[in-house]
Amino acid sequence: MSSPKPPPATPPANRRRPYTKIVATIGPSSEDRVGEMIDQGLAVARLNFSHGTREEHLRRLSKIRAAARERMLPVGILADLPGPKMRTGTFPGGRIELTEGEVVRVRSGDGEALPGEVLIDIEGLSGALAAGHRIFLADGQVMLRVREVFGEMAQCRVVRPGIVGDRKGVHLPDSEVDYELPTAQDREWIAFAVEAGVDFLGISFVGHAGEVEEIRSLAPGVGLVSKIERTVALENLDELLEASDGIMVARGDLGVELELAQLPIAQKSIIGAAVRAGKFSITATEMLESMIHSSRPTRAEVTDVANAVLDGTDAVMLSAETAVGDFPVEAVETMAEITRAVEQSQRYEQRPRQKLSSVDATFSTATAMAAVQVAGALGLSKIICFTETGNTVRLISRYRPSCDIIGLCPNIGPVQQMTVLDNVQPILFRREPSLEDMLYMAAEMLVVRGIAEYGEEVAFVAGVPPGVARSTNVMKLHRIGEEVKLS
Ligand code: PGA
Ligand code: MN
Repeated sequence: MSSPKPPPATPPANRRRPYTKIVATIGPSSEDRVGEMIDQGLAVARLNFSHGTREEHLRRLSKIRAAARERMLPVGILADLPGPKMRTGTFPGGRIELTEGEVVRVRSGDGEALPGEVLIDIEGLSGALAAGHRIFLADGQVMLRVREVFGEMAQCRVVRPGIVGDRKGVHLPDSEVDYELPTAQDREWIAFAVEAGVDFLGISFVGHAGEVEEIRSLAPGVGLVSKIERTVALENLDELLEASDGIMVARGDLGVELELAQLPIAQKSIIGAAVRAGKFSITATEMLESMIHSSRPTRAEVTDVANAVLDGTDAVMLSAETAVGDFPVEAVETMAEITRAVEQSQRYEQRPRQKLSSVDATFSTATAMAAVQVAGALGLSKIICFTETGNTVRLISRYRPSCDIIGLCPNIGPVQQMTVLDNVQPILFRREPSLEDMLYMAAEMLVVRGIAEYGEEVAFVAGVPPGVARSTNVMKLHRIGEEVKLS
């Protein structure tokens, strides 16, 4: 009888990074485990400024940078702004029980409500409300409908009953609420984030491109992620995509503003629009929710993560699972297992992508297209792209080629911002004065690092002269190890 076979050795996940990127929120339960999370495939670490102090975020930021440095792997840092989240005031006894059909009064305020009353902490509330508008309390658990507005007071009927505790989230999907975005608090966080050197800012409750542009002026060089979580953001999706570097399908708050059943289709159209616009997308919230307290996900959660990958998302995100959950490392590992399984399927090759067409052809887009077409025709394993800003790499990534995209860049900022892009492996790489030297040095470096091997056929994409942004104009087919002679 033959002896039982040992289980197959699984290589560390970072040996073969998942194509689909993993974003995980770093909080109390994960700040000391970031290194292990990177080993399991974490690409972008998220700091949620809605919770925690500056000191905590600064401490986590330096732990993330240290863990990345130790592994010589770039990790992006996404700081998520709180934004104008509306909340109820407090209630006598800490809660209010609302029964179906009951009439309650709603008005502006952030103190304690009188019996039969709900306070919402924004000014000018009654001016924004009108008969028929819906008011969601406790992140959608309870729904009121406005019957009539008298002066400062709106009289509402309870449509969906339930219990509301103190300071629960409020949504007014039908009302034009006047607020400024970024809020005064956001501005302070933006200044803090810029000073701390984060790579991305998540813009909560954004609705208009002007708001993104305002934040761009406050945080030049930072990647801006518009969180699609209001109906107005869905309506203005095209202008938000144009103004942003990427978007987040923020299913938590979006699921309150839309009927929950609308969420899956909304997710597909948001991701599809991002791919067409050449911007990245992050699918977020409750992806592995049960892993907050369980070491195994549910079947539904596994299927949800897989479907987001098939929808064409660049990245999938973990929130409470890693910020405060009991299994932060296992959650990342689970996500990587799911994405990897999907990536090996035939269906994965059919996910949405930018069409190879010449509509917006420039030297850069045409060179990117050529590389993708040639890589497909020859079955190349890699497109290796020299980039100053990451722009050309983003252009290549949106065509979703079947090969790996290696982004070589001399600037750490763009390197860390490329971490979120589907299928892209960013590497910090010094610029050489001539294209010949650059190709030669890059090929050697990739072999030394075990990323490429001698004899492998690849496509290089570059700009000449080297070092000039937005000058991509060369695509060179190359067999690694052969002499690079361009003249
Ligand atoms: P949040 O954003 O976790 O900051 O609320 C994500 C979402 O709303 O889904
Ligand atoms: Mn949200």
